[in-house]
Amino acid sequence: VEDRYVAIDMGGTQLRLALADRDLNLCSVVKESTDHSRGPESIVDQVQRMLEEALQESGTEGKALQRGVVASPGPLDTQTGIVHGAPNMPGWEGEVHLRSMLEDRLQIPIQPVNDANVAAVGEFRRGAGRGTRNLVYLTVSTGIGGGVIVEGRLLEGSKGMAGEIGHMTIDMHGPTCNCGNIGCLEVLASGTNIGRRFREALAAGGTSAVTEWLDGRGATAADVARGAAEGDHLASTVWSDCMEALGFGVVNCIHIFNPDMVVLGGGVTNAGDLVFLPVLSVVDRYAMVLPREGVGIVRAELRDNAGLYGAASLAIEAMETL
Ligand SMILES: [Zn+2]
Repeated sequence: VEDRYVAIDMGGTQLRLALADRDLNLCSVVKESTDHSRGPESIVDQVQRMLEEALQESGTEGKALQRGVVASPGPLDTQTGIVHGAPNMPGWEGEVHLRSMLEDRLQIPIQPVNDANVAAVGEFRRGAGRGTRNLVYLTVSTGIGGGVIVEGRLLEGSKGMAGEIGHMTIDMHGPTCNCGNIGCLEVLASGTNIGRRFREALAAGGTSAVTEWLDGRGATAADVARGAAEGDHLASTVWSDCMEALGFGVVNCIHIFNPDMVVLGGGVTNAGDLVFLPVLSVVDRYAMVLPREGVGIVRAELRDNAGLYGAASLAIEAMETL
């Protein structure tokens, strides 16, 4: 029986599960929408059903399954497999023993890994970072997650918490972040916070043409991007301030990790040049010349599948090192 590895991506509003072979081909992919507010038990039920479906669809026997990796929301302790009160996951209060819950149900060894770390591995193996050795990955969406590849391996740290780039302080006089720290990159530049900062600027008496299409609803990052693209003054001001913060985050990463490549992904990067031009301008101005030289700052390629490729890749790697 040929080995199969289980890749699970729990991020956001969709659950994704795939079976992969040893050469990192995804042989069977199942995607379903989900609602994390129903709590972890119900999500684990859903994962079990999806695995059964994937096995059936691909004609794989259960005994072919070696192990699995799940891209999990954080904060996650990879030593214990426990998620500690994920702030971006309503319904996941307190400690969630994700590893033992999944292992009980799926009957194979399962390793939960921080979702952004998993996506970093995916981009490194199969996406924009193919062929590099040292890579920093940042996903800018609801929050800002990060992952770092050093000499071809994921930097994990002692509890698997390395690479929390979103929670580096950019402004020590800045606003309080979800994590409790102040002036984090995330609270200054994530999608949710771009929207928040613009709404605050409006509430403080700013005027903007963006309100013409809002029709009473709250502005999102996409609205701010559109306003900035159309030359609206308030939207442009807020947007460039957020992108400047992101640029400084990238500068810090270049200084700490001296990567071959910085990969930016997540919904906010759909704004394209509106993100990359201001980020590059901060990097060119403030990064040290030597580590700046030759570092590509590029857009992620894998989109929704970064988590599945990364999880499958980590599961195969874990098997090989056993
Ligand atoms: Zn933070």
